[in-house]
Amino acid sequence: MGESTISIFGKELLSLCECHAAKNDFFFNWERIGRIDKTEYFFKRRVLDHYLVGRAVESGAVMREGVQATGVTILKNMAVVHTTAGDFETGIVIGADGFGSTIGRSVGLVHRDLKCRYASMKAEINITPQKGCQLGIMEPPRQQTHFFSDLMGFAWVIPNKDSVNVGYGSTVDRSQGLRERFNRFLGHLDLQPHLVKGGQIPFMTIRQPCTERVLLTGDAAGFVNPWSGAGIDQGVIASEKAAIVCREACDSHDFSAEKMSMYQKLTEAQVRRNNWRGSWIKALDNIFPHGASFPSWFKLFIMWFSNLA
Ligand SMILES: Cc1cc2nc3c(=O)[nH]c(=O)nc-3n(C[C@H](O)[C@H](O)[C@H](O)COP(=O)(O)OP(=O)(O)OC[C@H]3O[C@@H](n4cnc5c(N)ncnc54)[C@H](O)[C@@H]3O)c2cc1C
Repeated sequence: MGESTISIFGKELLSLCECHAAKNDFFFNWERIGRIDKTEYFFKRRVLDHYLVGRAVESGAVMREGVQATGVTILKNMAVVHTTAGDFETGIVIGADGFGSTIGRSVGLVHRDLKCRYASMKAEINITPQKGCQLGIMEPPRQQTHFFSDLMGFAWVIPNKDSVNVGYGSTVDRSQGLRERFNRFLGHLDLQPHLVKGGQIPFMTIRQPCTERVLLTGDAAGFVNPWSGAGIDQGVIASEKAAIVCREACDSHDFSAEKMSMYQKLTEAQVRRNNWRGSWIKALDNIFPHGASFPSWFKLFIMWFSNLA
């Protein structure tokens, strides 16, 4: 998580922070080729999510665990959210239900290009401080991003307090054998797989994240940085904008598509930047034949990018 996102929640969030790093070392086929100087704060997802749910409940939200939304019906004077626990009437619906959003699909706000996704795996592995030093991620703490000439994606190694977060991902249509490749990556680092999780990450934002009485945020709308696969910062930034639009709509009792389109305007720059970045990934994905190695200039491009950024 970046500093600007921390400032949205306030400095008290830092008490949950596992570790922060000011540097990101870039590797190509295990050779260190560059570095980005940028401070990032690392959290355990379950700790962060638990805290954020607690803050929402403190602010008046009602938490209903184990209830699944199955769709939305937009009526003239309200929206009805259909769930496994019955129907709920409301003025406005925010779909924050992840990639392939049920809310989005039920009102026709969907990703146009389902190929634009990463398939990723990550593991959370306990390590000793000595192992952290041996991996090169301590003293001072630093993250690593690994590119490989035959992988249409990248891997990461991130320091936590007593553990390391290791992940590996590629564009979805080139993700065959991802688990084996991930295990080989861990093997190279002499780490045993533990708490392995997988999932898909969209890398293009949908062009229209709102319609009458409905807004989408987070992965539901594809607010993810296509170059890093990181969606937390992007989701939080878009959600702040969604909150502004909701408040305005509620205050003016206007939930029309036109009023909601203010969200589209507020997120326009974010969407444009993401989709520009995403189109690079899409182009590379289309240019390189399946299984092909990257040409040598790709390494030069990463070197240029990592020393420039
Ligand atoms: C392996 C992996 C590693 C990642 N690592 C990072 C990282 O290091 N940093 C980073 O910034 N991002 C990372 N990401 C991306 C990040 O996880 C997502 O961008 C982020 O979780 C999106 O948040 P979200 O709230 O929009 O969606 P989600 O986190 O997917 O949350 C959606 C929620 O909605 C619920 N839900 C879904 N459908 C329904 C329904 N019908 N009814 C009720 N509830 C529903 C789900 O149960 C879930 O709780 C990673 C992703 C993967 C797969």
